[in-house]
Amino acid sequence: MPGTEYLTIGGIESESIVDGPGFRYAVFVQGCNFRCPGCHNPQLQSFTGGRRISAAEILAAIKANPLLSGLTLSGGDPFTQAASCAALAEQVRALGLSVMVYTGYLWEDLLSAGNPAWRRLIEAADILVDGPFIQAQKNIDLRFRGSANQRLIDVPQSLAAGRVILLPEEP
Ligand code: SF4
Repeated sequence: MPGTEYLTIGGIESESIVDGPGFRYAVFVQGCNFRCPGCHNPQLQSFTGGRRISAAEILAAIKANPLLSGLTLSGGDPFTQAASCAALAEQVRALGLSVMVYTGYLWEDLLSAGNPAWRRLIEAADILVDGPFIQAQKNIDLRFRGSANQRLIDVPQSLAAGRVILLPEEP
């Protein structure tokens, strides 16, 4: 039943302008399987911390702010809580808002894994930023990401085309 899912999160930024296009409700999930040197949120790597919050509570907060352009799921890695994140993302999209998801996994690996929850989260996203943060490829001029290996993927276009379609560097 929608609204009964829970996420374990490390924090929320309720009006972010740096986690995707427009004004976004950014949820930082707790837990990540990658250990990228130079990680922007190392306190979110552990699977033991954070706090539980229902998708319904997050959805209510998003509904209460008419200025928002959408939801950003970051972390940590949202694919470690894919089913809950997908349920939330689907409900946000039903409001007509966009969904952006960050992950340390590669698009190709997510799709080929055969994990239904991963597939569901991909299909609920408009934009996916994939790949680990690589310090040697750090570039502060990149749009919405930290290192040049990370891709800003147009999810609906990529699923339709069967190959990765990138969003432009400029809006
Ligand atoms: S994938 Fe992201 S959250 Fe996870 S360790 Fe790397 S930079 Fe940090």
